[in-house]
Amino acid sequence: MASHRDLEKFDKGILDSAGDAAPSKAASVELETCRKKLLAAEEELEAVDRELAEVLERTSQLAVDAEILEIEINQIFNAAADGMWIIDRNFDVKRINDSLVRQLGTDREECIGKKCYDLFKGSTCQSQECPMIRIPAGEKRVEFDVDQLGADGNKTPFILTASPFLGLEGEFLRIVETLKDITERKQFEAALQKANRELKRVAMIDGLTQVANRRQFDQCLTREWKRGRREKLPLSLILGDIDYFKLYNDTYGHQMGDSCLQAVAKVIEKSLKRPADLVARYGGEEFAVILPNTPAEGAVHVAETIRSALADLKIAHAQSPVNPCVSLSLEISCAMPSAEMSMGTLVESADQALYEAKKRGRNQAILKLL
Ligand code: GH3
Ligand code: MG
Ligand code: MG
Repeated sequence: MASHRDLEKFDKGILDSAGDAAPSKAASVELETCRKKLLAAEEELEAVDRELAEVLERTSQLAVDAEILEIEINQIFNAAADGMWIIDRNFDVKRINDSLVRQLGTDREECIGKKCYDLFKGSTCQSQECPMIRIPAGEKRVEFDVDQLGADGNKTPFILTASPFLGLEGEFLRIVETLKDITERKQFEAALQKANRELKRVAMIDGLTQVANRRQFDQCLTREWKRGRREKLPLSLILGDIDYFKLYNDTYGHQMGDSCLQAVAKVIEKSLKRPADLVARYGGEEFAVILPNTPAEGAVHVAETIRSALADLKIAHAQSPVNPCVSLSLEISCAMPSAEMSMGTLVESADQALYEAKKRGRNQAILKLL
């Protein structure tokens, strides 16, 4: 486009070519109109230039901002202790942080563009069970435990958390996923569970004889009493008391006494055949046996089995007035649990039978029917 200076030259040319003759009025007017138009165009052009410069400046500022943002995002992304990556709907890895690169034992360049399941082989990868497929379908967050299958066949437990990156319109763009190795946590949980199981066991077991303790006996009796009432089944209880055990301790010493208690507990335990039967250390040298769904005859049979098994063991008790070997007085009580009868009656009745057995000369079983 012609500039103002060009126009002046053009004017001068017209005047020169006209010689001394004055330009016509019409030519002057036209010249003036042209000059004005040209001036306006020139101003418009300058305004466009200015606008363009501003846009360019803004654009380059935006580019700088975007670059700073990218650096910031990378730094935040890489500062995360947990492994992270961003993947698209085809499961191609678009971005990966330092932590995950390290965990996968590879290079960043090796990861970008690869399928996530080729880099991290999870037990649910490429199957309909993979919870990740729910993210492009609209789910806002998934969290799941998964085992990473190593090339050596080892499994490493991970917890994976995934959520979507959404566009301005809320449309799905990519998946951002966090991967955390939870081996230590799992080991800790397993140790805790083991400790809890052991704690529960210890709380229910008698330390010396390793049979059920009084607490377990009480729980079991309550449970079986209720079951018997519900199902109308007989419940038998045997209380066994070692004869002249104080004398045994006095004769052989406390340590031998402890070993004797252990042996008696084993004998009773071995004499019980049904899984529901339970032997417990009821007191110092007293043992209790719960026999669910067992009528009196069955209980008498068990009591006699215990007595003869102990006799077979022949644990010397030289000072015992009733027998040269350790013997038991056994008290059997049997009841049909009902709403009218209390569970305590069963135990009291066994206690009474014990008294009778002791009175009658020990080393025998006495039955008390309710
Ligand atoms: P009885 O024939 O009338 O039952 O007489 P007993 O001596 O067996 O009964 P008593 O109740 O007089 O004494 C029980 C003894 O059991 C007292 C105690 O020395 C012994 N005893 C209790 N608990 C233990 C234990 O844990 N270890 C040992 N070694 N002895 C125990
Ligand atoms: Mg006793
Ligand atoms: Mg005794």
